[in-house]
Order: sequence, then structure tokens, then C-alpha cells
Amino acid sequence: MKVLVINCGSSSLKYQVIDSETEHVLAKGLCERIGIDGVLTYQPAGQDKIRYEAAMPAHRQAVELVLKQLTDPENGVLSSIDEIQAVGHRMVHGGEKFACSTLLDEEVLNTVEELNDLAPLHNPPTLVGVRACKEILPDTPMVGVFDTAFHQTMPASAFIYALPYEYYTKYAMRRYGFHGTSHKFVSQRTAQLMGKKPEDVKIIVCHLGNGASISAVDQGKCVETSMGLTPLEGLIMGTRSGDIDPTCIEYIAHKEGISMEDTMEIINKKSGVLGISGVSSDFRDLDNAAAEGNKRAQLALDAFCHHVVKYIGSYIAVMNGVDAIAFTAGIGENAPNVRAQVMKQFKYMGVEIDPVNDSIHGDECMISTKDSKVKVFVVPTNEELAICRDTVEIVTEQIVKDAIDTVMGK
Ligand code: AMP
Repeated sequence: MKVLVINCGSSSLKYQVIDSETEHVLAKGLCERIGIDGVLTYQPAGQDKIRYEAAMPAHRQAVELVLKQLTDPENGVLSSIDEIQAVGHRMVHGGEKFACSTLLDEEVLNTVEELNDLAPLHNPPTLVGVRACKEILPDTPMVGVFDTAFHQTMPASAFIYALPYEYYTKYAMRRYGFHGTSHKFVSQRTAQLMGKKPEDVKIIVCHLGNGASISAVDQGKCVETSMGLTPLEGLIMGTRSGDIDPTCIEYIAHKEGISMEDTMEIINKKSGVLGISGVSSDFRDLDNAAAEGNKRAQLALDAFCHHVVKYIGSYIAVMNGVDAIAFTAGIGENAPNVRAQVMKQFKYMGVEIDPVNDSIHGDECMISTKDSKVKVFVVPTNEELAICRDTVEIVTEQIVKDAIDTVMGK
């Protein structure tokens, strides 16, 4: 099955076409500056990237351009758009309504729309993108894969905020967690690399990118994760503060004489390792600055690692043990110094890192020694492939169900 995977932002649309049988990416690209002017990037497998400007007043035109490019007689990878048998959409917030991926019919889209308050920056552009796709490909099944779904197995004791309970019942305020597609993909792959079934292992996944989160996955189910109602909670991130005393927000607004909105902008966009270092949100810049003696850059790196250690330690306690720890995303996959600094704190419980394996960049690898009591892995995440797999599963289930209904005369 050829699956178009789409990830819509407010002014961008990332896409890939994946052949689900081979799991090969046939083409990928990005539409940027939607609603401003429009830039399309397109890369068929094994060929150079093409980039050109084209008017994209709205997401509909972006989808049209993507399909035109994919079927281009010269460098397209499809003979017609009918070759696309399903579309998988990355959806950010499914609230408590969606604990797994689902076919996107009008009823489901309306339910997602009702959740807009929980993700005002992310859900509305996704819905615009899905609706644009449905208009252009009305007969192609569309599947929504939610960033929050994998974390829906968390017990209430882990997801409830210690606020008046009616805020949970009235406003759905609770911890949801994000990056779920990545946590699911990486935990399942880690179990596979160990030669075990997910049901038989306890795994901690460290998704360390510009946005960062950790999850505890016990017997294949998420039991804890570090992000909350929004992706702001948890670890120190590129520009997000992560956990802080909530009073800091009122204090900043009061001391700086700024509004709540402006304060939240600082907490989201000017904090994290950027805020501490004053240098950059990018770990490569921080490494360089720290090597040149910049003390704040070093402090930012140390604080980041400290928080990762704190979360891993607490998740080991939550699961009553751990069999494997997996690192993924930009920093997790590419920063051996961060992995080493974090993992040295777990030597006491038998974690032994193999320095040769840990010097690799970006490849799938076990970085602990084979005798290490707890195994440590680098597993590059692949959210697009995870979306493709879920999409095929849901669409196939529906085809089987329709066939049974036909036979039963329903
Ligand atoms: P992501 O959000 O998963 O795309 O991760 C992006 C972040 O990964 C960047 O902001 C960098 O901080 C980090 N990163 C990417 N490549 C490297 C590298 N080679 N060394 C250290 N950090 C890296």
C-alpha cells in the first residue's frame, strides 16, 4: 500500500510517501510559508532535493502542489494520485477521546475540533490540513495518529494534577504527554532489539530533541511520561523551561511588568537551555561554547543532564526496575557526551556503557556492554513510518470489516 503521511503546522506541511510493503520512503518534502507566499521542497528517493517558490495562500493549495509534484511526469514517483491508497495524518492532541489511531470521518474531526482548547496552536492547523486533503482526495481513507494516544494508559495517579478535582471533570485538565508516536515506536523497537516481546520488558525512552520528554513503558504500556497538559512540563528543553515552580510565572509578570501572555512566551520560547546559556537552543552551539570556556553554556548542559537523570531515576522507582533505556531524537541520537553524562549516574545499578559503541552518531545501536545489567540503546525515531504502519493497520481492519458486512448483507 502506498501511504501519504502528512504533518501539518500552522504555516507548514511535511510529507512523505511510503511504500508500506517495503517500508521505503518513495519521496518526501516540505511546504513552508503557507499563507505567506509559499516554498515547496521535494526529494524523490535517491535524487537531489528540488526547491521552488509557489503560491500557497492556504493548506489546500499546498496539498494540491504536493500531489502535482508527486505525479509530475519528469520526477514524480506516482503515475496518478489514485496510487495513494491511504493518508496518515499526525494529530497532536486527542485528549481522552483517542487512545489509539482512528479513521478520520466527519464525526471524529468534529470531536478533535472540540479539543482545540487543549492545543490551540496545533490542532486547528492539523484540522485545516486534513479537511483540505479530504476535499482533494474524497475517496481515500484518512487516518489520524495522535501524539497523546500512547500515553492514555497512564494510571490516574500519574496523570491527575493536585488541583481542585472539578478542573479535571470540567476542563479536562490533566497530564496527557506528547511525542507518543515516537515513544511507542522506540519502545517497541527496543524490545525487538533485545529479542523480547514488549509485554516482557520495562523500558525508559528518552526522546531528547528540541522538545524533550521521557516515558516509562511497562509491559508495552506507558505508565508515566514527563510532559503534561501541554508540552511545557517536564525536562529542560531547547527553549521551554520544563518544570518550574508555578509561582515563577506570577513573579516574572509582576517584576517585569508584563502580561500573562508575554510571560508564557518567555517560558515557552526564551527559556530552556537557551535561557540559561544565552547562547543557543542547539546543543552543538552549546558544546562549542562550553569547550571555549563559556560557563553558562556548560551550566545549561549540566542542568539538562541533571533533569534527565532525575526523571530516569524516578521512573525506575515507578516501574520497580528497568530492563532497558533508549535514547532517541536529535540530542538522544547524536550527542554521546549527553548520554555518557546521564548514564554514569546509573553505574551503581549495573549500567555499563561501551565507549566505542557510544561514539556512533545517529545509527541504531546497543551502547551498553553486552554484560551490562540494564541495556542501553540508541534507536533513531521514525514517526512517519510509525504513522504509516498505524494507517495501514486501521485501513486494513476497515477493509476486512466492510467485506464481512457485505457478505453478511449489512
Ligand atoms: P529534534 O527536535 O529531534 O529535531 O532535535 C533537534 C536538536 O538536536 C537540535 O536543536 C540540537 O540541539 C540537537 N542535535 C542535532 N544534531 C546534533 C549533534 N550532532 N550533536 C549534538 N546535538 C545535536
